[in-house]
Amino acid sequence: MTKFKGLAMLGFDTIGWIEKEAPAVGPNDALCRPLALSPCTSDVHTVWEHAIGDRHDLILGHEASAEVVIVGALVKDFKPGDRVIVPAITPDWQAVESQMGFSQHSGGMLNGWKFSNVKDGVFGEYFHVNEADGNLAHLPDSIGAETAVMLSDMVPTGFHGANNAEVEYGDTVVVIGIGPVGLMAVAGSVLRGAGRVFGVGSRKKCQEAAKYYGATDIVNYKDGDIVEQIKDAMGGKAVDKAIIAGGDNDTFDQAVRLVRPGGIVSNINYLGTGDFIKIPRVEWGLGMGHIRVTGGLMPGGRKNMEYLARLIVNGRLDVSPLLTHRFGRFDDIEEALLLMKDKPADLIKPVVTF
Ligand code: NDP
Ligand code: ZN
Repeated sequence: MTKFKGLAMLGFDTIGWIEKEAPAVGPNDALCRPLALSPCTSDVHTVWEHAIGDRHDLILGHEASAEVVIVGALVKDFKPGDRVIVPAITPDWQAVESQMGFSQHSGGMLNGWKFSNVKDGVFGEYFHVNEADGNLAHLPDSIGAETAVMLSDMVPTGFHGANNAEVEYGDTVVVIGIGPVGLMAVAGSVLRGAGRVFGVGSRKKCQEAAKYYGATDIVNYKDGDIVEQIKDAMGGKAVDKAIIAGGDNDTFDQAVRLVRPGGIVSNINYLGTGDFIKIPRVEWGLGMGHIRVTGGLMPGGRKNMEYLARLIVNGRLDVSPLLTHRFGRFDDIEEALLLMKDKPADLIKPVVTF
């Protein structure tokens, strides 16, 4: 194989099929062939909101399960033919930031995010994985390729939101946005022991899925101010934690208004536009309210994938309600991505398996 094709961002607002030279595989790296793919709302931010600046002929996508095709001479635990989970974030594990516990930012802000950002993504007939032993995970026999794609990004991102919110037994948690990422934040919060979970979203399909994952209350942001709606339901009281998985830069304002002194606002939304986020001065305790506002890129790497896969293998997490639209040919990834952009009412996540 010398050349292969992939679906690329050609420039702002434009996608198309291109051919690329096969990438060199370094001694610690691997070349993989996708078994299943899914487009992400982040691909939409990147192409159509210009969120990370211009990219030319960059193959898109960061959600895949795959088969290993080639491994470098120093790769110990993977060989050609292995079925693997591929995390969306593939850090450089020797970087100082990784040693500090922030591998997502290995080598600089967001630099652990390589696919479809600083190098070609997974929507190619082949793709390159750096540091294969640290970044790939063996796909357990009981998990299908289609299910495994949800482990690339949706599960780890939603769960990262719940982890950063430090959800504890009995906590009341608001999850603002119940697309696939927010739904996994609901599931992660429930697994961590949340007592009451508000899910905020307008689409019926997502509301039903939020209830399936354990949301006790559903709030439609199109029915009026969510702060008022949630405070009413809480008898005027504040909640413990708010996880932001949708909305816009003003959503921080609402989240801070919702949480109690000492509460946590945990953002996992990818903010595609604007220069600033808004924090309300008075509700933030005039700067002294001990309300923590944090935001994080999902952690990638092998350990995280192996641990999250264990939840699926042992029946503690079922990702099948996320998979609302299925495609059967590699080329269908283009239609699936456009579907993600258009977000029809019955869509949670499209997946392409071949
Ligand atoms: P979706 O677009 O599917 O879901 C967004 C959710 O937010 C929907 O439930 C939507 O409701 C809701 N929403 C929209 N506007 C508002 C509003 N004004 N107030 C309250 N809720 C609102 O997105 P995904 O779930 O796929 O992804 C969520 C975000 O996570 C994206 O920004 C994505 O790029 C990002 N992301 C971040 C990662 C990370 O590592 N941090 C990794 C992967 C993705 P409705 O559908 O009813 O309109
Ligand atoms: Zn993503």
